[in-house]
Amino acid sequence: MTRIVVLGGGTGGTLAANRLRRALPGAEVTVVDLDDVHVYQPGLLFVPFGLARPEEIVRPRHQQLHAGIGYRQSAVDTVDIERDEVHLADGTLLGYDVLVVATGATLLPEETEGLVGPGWMESVSTFYTLDGATALERTLSTFDGGKLVVNVVDMPIKCPVAPLEFCFLADWYFRERGIRDRVELVYATPLDAAFTKPVAAQRLAGLLGEKGVELVTEFNTASVDGSAGRLVGYDAREIGFDLAVVVPLHGGASYIGRSPGLGDELNFVPTDEHTLQSKARPNVFVIGDAANVPASKAGSVTHFEGDVIVENISRHVRGEPLDARFDGHANCFIETGFHKALLIDFNYDTEPLPGHFPTAVGLPLLKESRLNHLGKLMFQWFYWHGLLPGRDLPGIGSAMPRSGKARAGAQR
Ligand SMILES: Cc1cc2nc3c(=O)[nH]c(=O)nc-3n(C[C@H](O)[C@H](O)[C@H](O)COP(=O)(O)OP(=O)(O)OC[C@H]3O[C@@H](n4cnc5c(N)ncnc54)[C@H](O)[C@@H]3O)c2cc1C
Repeated sequence: MTRIVVLGGGTGGTLAANRLRRALPGAEVTVVDLDDVHVYQPGLLFVPFGLARPEEIVRPRHQQLHAGIGYRQSAVDTVDIERDEVHLADGTLLGYDVLVVATGATLLPEETEGLVGPGWMESVSTFYTLDGATALERTLSTFDGGKLVVNVVDMPIKCPVAPLEFCFLADWYFRERGIRDRVELVYATPLDAAFTKPVAAQRLAGLLGEKGVELVTEFNTASVDGSAGRLVGYDAREIGFDLAVVVPLHGGASYIGRSPGLGDELNFVPTDEHTLQSKARPNVFVIGDAANVPASKAGSVTHFEGDVIVENISRHVRGEPLDARFDGHANCFIETGFHKALLIDFNYDTEPLPGHFPTAVGLPLLKESRLNHLGKLMFQWFYWHGLLPGRDLPGIGSAMPRSGKARAGAQR
């Protein structure tokens, strides 16, 4: 019996385990996670604005796994890739024939000087955790004017469009409350534009301008002073604030750094970008944010990786050559406020382009629409009932569709 151990029971670990259970019914599949709280992370964006309640976006982790899958609740301490063994913090040793690394990206706020100092979770906050998003809801509800700065400390981050969405929703929120003229909104990013890909960056910078959000580029945050209300960049530029909403530095899980040969200097796992096999060992595969592939760290990418990784694990078990077909497909709804959203769809080689998704008669790309907003809202249902159980989106495969795109563009 093939023993498959899946590290992490978030988006990627859950959907991979459920798909593996179906594809390899004879295998023993065990998922390990440090807690039993599965958060629908895209919902964190809505909590600060009172558009979702924390309890609506959380479910027990083990209940998302199909019958017959083992679940161990413990932190991973180390992985010994020489001996094919996982050591858990509770002292258990799990041997494996195939290992799936799905421990995602970890927030490292303590790596930025002063970020978790005075004012943390009050005048300095984040919506990237459930606690932070919940605290921010309280802070925003009593915020009656001043300078609100949304700051990304460094890339890569999960869902690179989420901080932009926060800016757009903040504009909507303060208008609804009738105090928009008393709030100055600033978006400070380490990038040289609003987003990484040129066509989308131009469109998103235009939207920030239309909504009166100041864009500050190439701002690399060195320290945060919550008492004085000031972000300081490595180039000595300063941005004052009354409320800072910060997306902290991200890294891979710390056990990866304690596991010789498994990770890189940021604790992400070097991975073949087309097969999802790790570069460390042929029997180690990686799904989701834990991989160092040049795709967005997004649930959509994790979902599209699902059938490729399961196909390749099955081939590995049968001793067949792997299928190098993952193309980096990413697909993100970008909430823009006032019940509208943009949609972007891209992969390793093709940047987000205008047109329609998935075909010429589908959802509008790079254009605000109510249909896209409904798509974003409906996605939460699909997450729990389709994506995590390991189903495909009807009519949408893992490869990026090209037929509805306005023109072919190529960039890396
Ligand atoms: C605010 C926000 C908004 C987002 N919006 C979107 C969106 O609109 N669209 C989109 O596609 N994506 C979005 N994302 C990104 C998406 O949620 C992630 O990319 C996706 O969840 C990645 O899946 P994963 O399995 O790699 O990681 P995760 O789902 O984060 O799972 C990792 C798991 O590993 C576990 N783990 C970590 N370390 C250990 C350890 N040492 N031992 C045991 N277990 C461990 C964790 O507890 C966790 O359960 C958003 C993310 C955030 C934060």
